[in-house]
Amino acid sequence: MDESTRRTFLKDLSLGAAAFSVAGDQEKQSAMPGRPSSGDVETKVAAPANVTAIAAHPGDAFFAMGASVALSVHLGGQGVLLSLSLGEKGSSTIEPARYGALQREAAQSAARHLGAQAEFLSYRDGEIPASDEAKLAVCDLIRQYKPAVILTHWRGSWHKDHLACYEIVTDAIFYAGLPTLIRELPAHNVPKLYFADNWEDATGFAPDTYLDITQIFDGWLEACALFPMWRGENGFRYDDYYRSLAVQRGCLSGFAHAVALMSPPEQLVRHLQRL
Ligand SMILES: [Zn+2]
Repeated sequence: MDESTRRTFLKDLSLGAAAFSVAGDQEKQSAMPGRPSSGDVETKVAAPANVTAIAAHPGDAFFAMGASVALSVHLGGQGVLLSLSLGEKGSSTIEPARYGALQREAAQSAARHLGAQAEFLSYRDGEIPASDEAKLAVCDLIRQYKPAVILTHWRGSWHKDHLACYEIVTDAIFYAGLPTLIRELPAHNVPKLYFADNWEDATGFAPDTYLDITQIFDGWLEACALFPMWRGENGFRYDDYYRSLAVQRGCLSGFAHAVALMSPPEQLVRHLQRL
């Protein structure tokens, strides 16, 4: 491929690239409460977005979603990383109560390193229920933090907690946006939802958005390294996987380092009056 062809190739690929930002006055709000906006609005403008990552386990929040959150914080937004459980059963050598405490400490330190906030719900690892109680608990946190962007698991996962998290979050977004669903805090509509690139959620994962994380790549790796499991102690080489995935996604998008994200289909629908 010659240089001009290569540039065109990368330019075409980067059409799907995004920086999380809140669009200005031209942002069209969702017509129905609780529903995400359709994808015909470009996010070119204005203030950095508040981004909330919602994951089954702290490792998912920081390794698969944390770079996106870190970038928003770097750009001036607010970042929250919510774990529905502590992932306390993830070690074969450390008993769950102790390991859960280590996971909580690591998540809090990593969040501080990124300038973000760590939040936790107290569901048991491996037993996260896709219940209305859980959906309303997440709804309340969405109303509290008012994110413009939520990141969560894609449903194509072999891990039951990840699938439960997908169901909890998609319904929690619906609940959070319903003004007639009365909770302590008023309704908040979440304009954008993205599914994260996670080695355990790879079935049918089809990225449509690439985010340039080059600016925060080193800081994000430092935050991830605060988790013992990052080094592969639990059997999976997280450091190798997510570090090289960022390079690979960067190759595909024309950035040095990138994360790939997937949108819900309705978010990609375009409403045009001419082609
Ligand atoms: Zn997990």
